This record gives sequence, structure tokens and C-alpha cells, in this order.
Amino acid sequence: MTAVQVVVIGAGASGMMAAGRAAECGARVLLLEKTPRLGNKLRLTGKGRCNLTNETELSEFVAHFGATGRFLYGAFSRFFVKDLTAFFDQRGVLTTVERGGRVFPRSNDARQVVGALEGYLTVNGVIVRFRSPVERLLVADGRVQGVRVSARDLSCTAAVLATGGASYPRTGSTGDGYRLADEVGHHIVPIRPALVPLVAEEGWVGQLQGLTLRNVQVTLLARGRPIAQDFGEMLFTHFGVSGPTVLALSRRAVDALPAGPVTLSINLKPALTCEELDRRLQQELAAQGRRRLQNILASLLPARLAGAIVAILGMPPSKPGGQVSASERKRLCALLQDLRVTIQGARPIAEAIVTAGGVDTTEIDPRSMESRLVRGLFFCGEVMDIDADTGGYNLQAAFSSGYLAGESAARYAGAYERNTGDSSF
Ligand SMILES: Cc1cc2nc3c(=O)[nH]c(=O)nc-3n(C[C@H](O)[C@H](O)[C@H](O)COP(=O)(O)OP(=O)(O)OC[C@H]3O[C@@H](n4cnc5c(N)ncnc54)[C@H](O)[C@@H]3O)c2cc1C
Repeated sequence: MTAVQVVVIGAGASGMMAAGRAAECGARVLLLEKTPRLGNKLRLTGKGRCNLTNETELSEFVAHFGATGRFLYGAFSRFFVKDLTAFFDQRGVLTTVERGGRVFPRSNDARQVVGALEGYLTVNGVIVRFRSPVERLLVADGRVQGVRVSARDLSCTAAVLATGGASYPRTGSTGDGYRLADEVGHHIVPIRPALVPLVAEEGWVGQLQGLTLRNVQVTLLARGRPIAQDFGEMLFTHFGVSGPTVLALSRRAVDALPAGPVTLSINLKPALTCEELDRRLQQELAAQGRRRLQNILASLLPARLAGAIVAILGMPPSKPGGQVSASERKRLCALLQDLRVTIQGARPIAEAIVTAGGVDTTEIDPRSMESRLVRGLFFCGEVMDIDADTGGYNLQAAFSSGYLAGESAARYAGAYERNTGDSSF
């Protein structure tokens, strides 16, 4: 191979897109991946179905990233949802839109997405080397000069750091990029788990392991004050709580924990006002006065949860409905709309869907993804301090930033004009 112009480090979603795009723009590209396979994490996404992106309009899309979302406007204005679906469509991956604007391949198969990206690499002549962990970025005079891989130095003009986050380390994403970027002077916003199950204090929670609640409203309270809310499904596990609503609130929970107690308040009957629920209970208790309270509640709630509710109230499970006093009914009513779970912490980052924190985005030019500190160094994907809710936002960010980083790296390496005819660089 003639001299490499662009080295892309990491063959995940963002790295494959960056390498393919840099090569498409005319650069000689080498993609270095430390595992023996392309797109390990991508294959797991969306439970193997790959939620590629989301049809939400741009400003709302960006809002799903929280405070650092604005940084992504540059990448999204270059390559956004329509571009991504067209990209895959042209490569035989037809897509379909599901609930909440979530876009999936019609095949429901994440491997098809990896296959399309692999084709993009091949067609554009990207050289891929597996089992090639990059150990150092070689920088001199403020510019990238090369990378050290498997104890050998390899020179290049530009490098794209696409090493991902630190979650699901068996996919190869072990957080190497944070160290590599730190060594060349970048500030790393402390990494922490996001989209992560939460650990609960109460023993009854673990006893409900495997139980899913649907159509519940979950409010996150920090030091007793509500700070976020979500509606939908949640799941009890042996250690605590998980499921879409909990994952959605988890980043805020993790960030709030150091400052004081964090609690979830679960409204099991959010469609009813307090008065409506009380009337409903009154009717049920009167109509079924001889039945055990627990059995009456089981007509309103999943049976296992009904048992837990009676236990939390400290009532005997055999108590007949007709003997429930007005004050007991009020307590029951309050509990059904404000069931509290005390959060002790989060599960480890290895179990998180994404990593919050990473390379400080203030040190990256959003128009090119180039480092503001080291010329010829580009970033894309989760290694940067960006993370979003579930719904396809994280992958779109990986693909958009990868596309822009690849194109910018090719320009920087001087290959762009030759192939695209664009001499604006
Ligand atoms: C279970 C699960 C399900 C998910 N589902 C979805 C979903 O449906 N939709 C969505 O939008 N997001 C989803 N995500 C998040 C999404 O997968 C990530 O945000 C995205 O893959 C990040 O892409 P990336 O290219 O930055 O990193 P990664 O995909 O993690 O790729 C990084 C690559 O770099 C390689 N690497 C690391 N260090 C080195 C090194 N030193 N040298 C060489 N190579 C290296 C790794 O081996 C890896 O291949 C999910 C995540 C998980 C864990």
C-alpha cells in the first residue's frame, strides 16, 4: 500500500462510516480494529434489530442529547436522518418507522446494517486490519504524525479516533480512546454510565424480579424534588429497576446521586385523578367486601405487585375488602399513585447502553470534528462527550459525526478536491 493518508481507529458505527467516507473522498484509508470483527456493538443494537435513527425533527432530536446536543448541529446539518436512510436504502437496507419515530431496517437484522457498511468500505478501497489495537497517537509539532499499533509505529497524515465508549467492553469498546486523547492533551469529561439500570434499596423490589409494568408514570426525585419524568414501561430486576422509563431517567439519577438521596416515584394509575382512583377503590371494596384485599387489588394490578402493595401498607393479606377503613383506603390510594423506590446507585458502566462523558466537545470543531488542539486529529461517535436517550439518537450521532470526520480528514489529507471536485477547502 502507498503511504496511508487517514488512519481510522475503531471499526464501530462511527469508524466504519468515517473510513468509508474518507476513502470515498479520495483518501487512502486504513481502518484499525482491535477485535477480529467489524461492528460488534452495532450487531447488538436494538436487541439485534438496530434502531438506526429517529424521524423526530432536528431541534427535538438535538434536545435528546441534553446539554452537549448543540455541538452536533454541525454534523447533523451535513448528514442527517434522510441522508442516513438514503445511504442504507442505496445499499439494500430498506427501513421502516415504528412507534416514537424509531427507524429500523425492514429486515429487523442489525447484521444487514453491518454488511452494508462493510460493502461501503470495500467499494471505496479501505484497508481493514483486525486485531490491531492502537496504543498511542504520535503527535509532533502540534500535528498527527502517525499511530503506534501492536508496538509498531505507522505514519499517517490524519487520524480519526472512533474507539467508542466504555460500556459493553466485550464488544471491544473498553474506553481506550479516553486515554489516547488524554495523552495528547485533551480534557476528558469524567465518564459515567448512562442508559443504565438502577439499584434499589428496598427488598420488595428484588422479589418482583421479572415483572414488567406498562403505562406507568415514573418521576425522578432528587433530594425530594421532582427533576424528570417519563411515561411507559419499567421492569423489576433482582437488583432494582430497569426498562425504558428507568433507562431514560438514569443519566439524571446518576448525576444527582452525589448531592443527596434519589428516589423514583411510580404512579401505577396515571390515567386516574386521585379522586377517581379513590372512588374506584371504594366501589371495588364495597362490591367485593368478603374477598381478600390482595385479590381485589389483583383486579387492578399485576397479582405479584398487589401482594407487595399490601405488604408495604403493613396490612394482613387476608384482610377482607369490607374491613378496609377509610384511612387505610386513602393510604392505599396514595401508594398506588406514589410508590417509592430508593435508588442506591447505578449498575456498572459495563452494563450501560451508552457512556456519558468523554472527550470535551469544546475542544473539537463542530464543523469538521477536528481537534482544536492537535491538527489532523478527528473525533467521532461515543468517545466524545455526547450521549442521548434511547430511540436511535446515539447511532445517528455516531454515523453523522463519522461521516463529517471522514470527509474532513480526507480534506485535511489533501485528497478531497481531487475526487469530489470541491475546492472550497
Ligand atoms: C446493547 C446495546 C444496544 C444499543 N442499541 C442502540 C440502538 O438500537 N440505537 C442506538 O441509536 N444506539 C444503540 N446503542 C448505542 C450505540 O450502539 C453506540 O452509541 C454506538 O455503537 C457508538 O458507536 P461508536 O462507533 O462510537 O463506538 P462502537 O460502536 O463502540 O465502536 C468502537 C470500536 O472501536 C474499537 N476499538 C476500541 N479501542 C480500540 C483501539 N485502541 N484500537 C483499535 N480499535 C479500538 C472497538 O473494538 C469497537 O469496534 C446500543 C448500545 C448497546 C450497548
